[in-house]
Amino acid sequence: MADLKLSETRDLTRIERIGAHSHIRGLGLDSALEPRAVSEGMVGQTSARKAAGIILQMIKEGRIAGRAVLIAGQPGTGKTAIAMGMAKSLGLETPFAMISASEIFSLEMSKTEALMQSFRKAIAVRIKEETEVIEGEVVEIQIDRPAVAGAALKTGKLTMKTTEMEGVYDLGAKMIESLGKEKVQSGDVIAIDKPSGKVTKLGRSFSRSRDYDAIGPQVRFVQCPGGELQKRKEIVHCVTLHEIDVINSRTQGFLALFTGDTGEIRAEVREQIDTKVAEWREEGKAEIVPGVLFIDEVHMLDIECFSFLNRALENEMAPILAVATNRGITTIRGTNYKSPHGIPIDLLDRLLIITTQPYTKDDIHKILDIRCQEEDVEIAEEAKALLTHIGVETSLRYAIHLITAAALACQKRKGKVVENEDITRVYNLFLDVKRSTQYLMEYQEQYMFSEASIVDGDEG
Ligand code: ATP
Repeated sequence: MADLKLSETRDLTRIERIGAHSHIRGLGLDSALEPRAVSEGMVGQTSARKAAGIILQMIKEGRIAGRAVLIAGQPGTGKTAIAMGMAKSLGLETPFAMISASEIFSLEMSKTEALMQSFRKAIAVRIKEETEVIEGEVVEIQIDRPAVAGAALKTGKLTMKTTEMEGVYDLGAKMIESLGKEKVQSGDVIAIDKPSGKVTKLGRSFSRSRDYDAIGPQVRFVQCPGGELQKRKEIVHCVTLHEIDVINSRTQGFLALFTGDTGEIRAEVREQIDTKVAEWREEGKAEIVPGVLFIDEVHMLDIECFSFLNRALENEMAPILAVATNRGITTIRGTNYKSPHGIPIDLLDRLLIITTQPYTKDDIHKILDIRCQEEDVEIAEEAKALLTHIGVETSLRYAIHLITAAALACQKRKGKVVENEDITRVYNLFLDVKRSTQYLMEYQEQYMFSEASIVDGDEG
């Protein structure tokens, strides 16, 4: 029994890890930016993917600021999937920040501050550092202060800031392990055999008779047979402006990066950072990498936020803004006016608009096929056809949701492959929107505060 429970929990963890868009690995375009029919988890929606690919190319070529894209289309037509595809194709160094518009309404900070933080999460700074690295068989390190040794043991990185040189040295996990056992103390001289990571204590005094390179009061590297202090090497760090803001905004700023408890960041802190970054840029030490800020459900923003976006896009460091909505003509929050997608006309005018189209039966079949593979569900062709039919009649999302449920129904009857009966079973267990609405209409008098007309007229 205990075993059974354990395996059930494990399976659940696996299920939880498969996110709604985990099958999306890119936009599925070829080198000429033409969309492949099925590629990188993407199916159909060719013109939207192609347009997204062109935007991506613009981002990769860099140095364009303040462009904004709107992905508009009916629910479940892959707007978020396309944004995820863009994120996956960007590469690690280009930041991609994703929020749902409703996230910015919180008691902890003002909505414009939350938007500002999201903007700065989408702008990276590439900082170049020239440094020297140690190569060779054996390198001796003298650590003069226990604090430095301690920090190095914890992080595996030895940071040096002296007039002669500045840099971060990766000691490697193996070295840290053996350093730990050796209990390095202040004044110790240790030798590290780089390939094996073996550490030997050489003694406590620093021998000046050896050929050495003294590099500051904290750490000294001593040249050993086979080892040498190597020429200069460029190390590149990539951090977002938001990370720099947080680290500089309070004493425990660094920890706040992990807890997410960043609070409001003062305008002066940001100004100082912007000035510093501008200096680094002039000196050729750093460059700005504008990334992408994706705001889903953008109709949830209000008029103040829209005016903030208008202004923020004019900043020369602005990232590409991509927003998505499934709304038609609707009220702009915070006003009594209606406009397309609930977005004010002046902002709308700045947006390049990409539209997504409803899926064909064939597309739905292919997406369901990919999702079955992603969720590790074996399904009979006939059952897949039935699921596709359900997807066409209800929605793609509902059909996707039935996959795991049907697999569990199959498991319960000790089957190996999901069959029609499993699909039918879960279809009857879980209602789609149409049947749920019908049910409510039939039994409305048994619910509290029921007004049947709301169901028809409400946009949500
Ligand atoms: P909404 O307007 O309700 O937010 P949406 O347009 O953002 O909907 P998604 O959430 O992107 O829709 O799509 C619904 C599901 O279908 C997701 O699991 C998504 O990964 C998948 N999907 C949508 N389009 C495609 C596609 N072209 N290729 C592969 N999977 C897709």
